[in-house]
Amino acid sequence: MPRLTPAEVAARQNFLGGSDAGDLLSLEPYGCARKLGAKKLGIVPDYAWDEDNPILERGHALEPVFANEYAQRTGRKTQIIHDHDAVGNKQGKALREKHPWFRVSIDRRALDDAGPRLVEIKSSMQWVFAQYRADGPSAAHVAQTQWGLGATGWDVSDLFVGWPDGWEFLNFEIERDQETIDALIDRGHVFWNGLLSAREVIEREGLRATEEGDQRWELLLPPLDDGAKQCKKCEYRRQCKTAQFSKDGPEVVDESSVTDLKGDGVLALAVADYVAASAAESKAKDAKDRAKKIIATQMSLADSEVCRAQGAKVFYRAGKPPMKFDLKDFRKQHPELAKEFTKPGTPSRTMRVYPERMDV
Ligand code: SF4
Repeated sequence: MPRLTPAEVAARQNFLGGSDAGDLLSLEPYGCARKLGAKKLGIVPDYAWDEDNPILERGHALEPVFANEYAQRTGRKTQIIHDHDAVGNKQGKALREKHPWFRVSIDRRALDDAGPRLVEIKSSMQWVFAQYRADGPSAAHVAQTQWGLGATGWDVSDLFVGWPDGWEFLNFEIERDQETIDALIDRGHVFWNGLLSAREVIEREGLRATEEGDQRWELLLPPLDDGAKQCKKCEYRRQCKTAQFSKDGPEVVDESSVTDLKGDGVLALAVADYVAASAAESKAKDAKDRAKKIIATQMSLADSEVCRAQGAKVFYRAGKPPMKFDLKDFRKQHPELAKEFTKPGTPSRTMRVYPERMDV
């Protein structure tokens, strides 16, 4: 069962909601203002990946179960909000009236003595949950929460994250941050005006696609800033020129050549381990690089080549200059010889794993 019906998807083109906040600000790792523009303009995506994603479907089905768990763990009563247009206090409603594109749809409202609080419920796979535990909510989730607080006028939100297989939960209390809310509204205002102008042009002239797949929306709605180059997973990768400049995303492949191994549990566990280990590895590498830089600076300042610190002996001295074979120059000077000795090697298979956005 898809999470949103086609009618709901179409209705969402007429406003911006909290789940658009990460895209609006082009926040890492998945946000892209250009992608958001394409969605709101109703551009047909190259890959309809969201609709039949079982992980997203599971998250949707588990929402009431997790809401119940939230209530038990926090002791707060929760309510489902059916009329999202009526939700919030005077301040929130006034802001939404002023900006008709500024809308909100919240998972639950919780009540305690301090007043209403917004509850956002997420269901995560193990490695995403581990990231939440290590780093807290992502910038995109914080932006989504601040959006909700701005649109309701409330002061506090709970981001309740669950890992279904391990039955573990984390709750992050996020307080209202007016500066972020103001930035979101400013950016939303600029974005929405751009979108309206793009719609006018499309209505007047139509959306023409050339043979290369270069579509008008590319020109109509340029990225709001350089940050819009995520491309890790995007349903518009084929049509989007900006994607060509991104180095860290998956290559664009014909979807019919992708093998569906979703049912292979052994593979699934290995992929989860790989993704978690890669995240830990890159974090450790960052920490190591930072420490190396500091050690190099401190030893240079002390004019030391070998030192002792924290029970370790540290060497930092210049070695002999390395001897290099200048292949480029050799090819230039002796093209025939270089050709004679250049032979094809055995091709190796490289493995690259790109985590997809799968928490809801
Ligand atoms: S391909 Fe990349 S730059 Fe283009 S819309 Fe998608 S995420 Fe944005």
